[in-house]
Amino acid sequence: MSTFNVYPVYDITPVKAKGSKLWDDNGIEYLDLYGGHAVISIGHSHPRYVKAIQEQIAKLGFYSNSVKMPLQDELATKLGELAGLPEYQLFMTNSGAESNENALKLASFHNGRKKVIAFSKGFHGRTSAAVAVTDNPSIQAPINFADHVVILPFNDVEAVKAAIDGETCAVIMEGIQGVGGVNVATEEFQKAIREACDAHGAVYIHDSVQCGYGRSGKFFSFQDTDIKPDIISMAKGMGNGFPVGGILISPKFEAKYGMLGTTFGGNHLACAAAIAVLDVIKDENLVQNARELGEYTLAKLKPLVENGKIKEVRGRGLMIGVELENPIKEIREKLIFEDKIFTGASGANTIRLLPSLNVKKEELDRFLDALMKYL
Ligand code: PLP
Repeated sequence: MSTFNVYPVYDITPVKAKGSKLWDDNGIEYLDLYGGHAVISIGHSHPRYVKAIQEQIAKLGFYSNSVKMPLQDELATKLGELAGLPEYQLFMTNSGAESNENALKLASFHNGRKKVIAFSKGFHGRTSAAVAVTDNPSIQAPINFADHVVILPFNDVEAVKAAIDGETCAVIMEGIQGVGGVNVATEEFQKAIREACDAHGAVYIHDSVQCGYGRSGKFFSFQDTDIKPDIISMAKGMGNGFPVGGILISPKFEAKYGMLGTTFGGNHLACAAAIAVLDVIKDENLVQNARELGEYTLAKLKPLVENGKIKEVRGRGLMIGVELENPIKEIREKLIFEDKIFTGASGANTIRLLPSLNVKKEELDRFLDALMKYL
């Protein structure tokens, strides 16, 4: 049997990783500034994380949500404290798409409505409700086409004010669009969504799957403002590679038995991984590191926009997009094969950096020096 060939791949086989470094099967070392699509939050193979998973699997790897789960309670308490949202409730899933799927479903259960507002260039995953609010026809099968979704331009305050009405079930948006090009939502835009949702009984869903968990230099990117969404979806950095996701649900929602459910979501091993991630983020001040090193990197890149070498630089914290005038394919290939640096892309012209939150300044400098050679 072969694997179903849906991923274009680089001819590299990583076999070992530590912090922001990866080694392939020939012993070649790489600098990882992409973390496998923003997943690596506390660095590869962090010793506390490895120990927590090893100890948990030796005790109890899995049982379903039909028994008491003190580990879920511990995770919810620690997450509430570190994120500054102790009043929210946690429902655990296994991935980002599944988190958004449950967020949309919960919103619809809550107000009994169907119309969802989403934004151009957004990405929310590939399951049916999630992919229906993503305006990319190439990832929508005919079975996913839905007539309940309205797609508006991102950051368009007037459009959002005009579109949210008494039929709107939910608005879903990314605080910083990742796949769509590292586009940061403005404060005015987020406030307009919050106000219009409040005025019309619609649910505000903040997709923090990529921009959350400290990546933006705040625990959640909306914490640059004073708004609070009704539901916050998470995954990626939450497990540092262990598949775990979840939604944070504001107190306005009442849980009912059977309303949501999952076999694997919130299992013992997933909780152990997620608790270790949170402990490391807290004890090693990684949100602050993301903020400081993000500011450092952006400050180094901005002069390159002024002197015309770069078209635009966007982002917050350690979620950075470097847009060039021309396609970046060749530069990324040089970075990976000659300089041994993994980067990501958003579309054809934007290099996307999503390093671990404990990346070092010297490691970012290494990227900046390498990039300069190709501009
Ligand atoms: N939401 C956002 C903002 C994402 O970036 C992604 C994945 O890239 C998803 C949802 C889907 O997450 P997953 O691939 O874990 O289903």
